[in-house]
Amino acid sequence: MRPLRHVVPLAVCAVSFAHAAEPGAGATVSAPAAAPAPAPAAPAPAPSFTAEELDAAIARTSEQLRRAGSESLRAPLALRLGDLWVLRARQHAKAGQSDRALDAYDQALQAVPAHPIALVEAGWIQLEAGKPDVARGLAETALAHDGDNAFARELRGEILYRDNRLEDALDDFRTALLKRPGSASLARRIEKLEKELTSERDYRRADSSHFVLRFDGDRDESVRHILLDTLERQLDDLQREFSVSPLPPLTVILYTSRQFHETTGTGDEVVGLFDGKVRLPVGGVTRVTPGLERVVRHELTHALLHARGRGTVPKWLHEGLAQVMEPRDLARYRTGVLREAKPGETLDLEPFSYPKAFTYVAYLEAQYSRARLLWFVDLLAAGNSEADAFAQAFGASRDETLEGWRRWLAQK
Ligand SMILES: [Zn+2]
Repeated sequence: MRPLRHVVPLAVCAVSFAHAAEPGAGATVSAPAAAPAPAPAAPAPAPSFTAEELDAAIARTSEQLRRAGSESLRAPLALRLGDLWVLRARQHAKAGQSDRALDAYDQALQAVPAHPIALVEAGWIQLEAGKPDVARGLAETALAHDGDNAFARELRGEILYRDNRLEDALDDFRTALLKRPGSASLARRIEKLEKELTSERDYRRADSSHFVLRFDGDRDESVRHILLDTLERQLDDLQREFSVSPLPPLTVILYTSRQFHETTGTGDEVVGLFDGKVRLPVGGVTRVTPGLERVVRHELTHALLHARGRGTVPKWLHEGLAQVMEPRDLARYRTGVLREAKPGETLDLEPFSYPKAFTYVAYLEAQYSRARLLWFVDLLAAGNSEADAFAQAFGASRDETLEGWRRWLAQK
């Protein structure tokens, strides 16, 4: 088999979720904001093997390596073994089995210390698992062996970005793009980061136990303490509701309304965004209103669901549960949602709308319990398909619950 030394690494994307304002505050929105998409372009073509074929090849190559006498025989066998383990790791990662993927990348690194692809791809998994320090160590090891490794640069750029070191991140992304000039995703990443740098050039930061708040010192100094208190209080409450273990510090950035829409590329109806960081168009406010508390709870729910579901939670559940947790008032939405189905037609979640997502998740919670909703999230995080996870958690297919949802709304 030919060695696969230059396969493009898989990477995991952050997801962004815009959400709509309350009715009356503007039109509804259904398009999410542009995703930051740190992922590299499509993987280079690689021969596809079944898990059994790979396991057999790994066993065979390990045995050959064990028997090989001289270094000149061992070196190519070790390289091949490392590549085989990387392919096996990708199968686990694709199936959502991060722990097994990390074990396989470890095996690749035992065969080939500093295997560049194993380092970078394991780094992305560690980053998404909330371990930026481990991810950083892997990226630095890759760069120590090869400072030109564009994929390791991109990974380190993303780690720096999440740590709010925007200029350092931009440096890494630009260097990566020089090595991979055809990468549209890197070019988009750089463009987005440049916009953020323009908005946040003179921003200051304030830290609390679980948050890094970034704000304009002249404009938002008076509100920073009260906003950090609100964030801590709401996070504490939501963490208890979701039993999510502590997350790495979450960044919250304050913009004016205009800065917000320019930076995030969203329409006027969007009142908050979570794309790995929470972005709020509240720059210049002087107090925390009940409306702002609701936006905070909404965006923090996205952050917690994203963490618990390891990025696998579908949009209807993200937006539905975020609205349940605000909390929104069901009575204001039920008639409008019921009107979305024509007489004789089933009320369906497609096409997506915020009121439908909200009332459907409220129904699932009332009918089946919060615990089952969270179990569904855990099943998704473990790598199950949405249909399988749904059937297991609720004992029915999603289609089978739609009529119950309509009846429940009609009775409310
Ligand atoms: Zn939302």
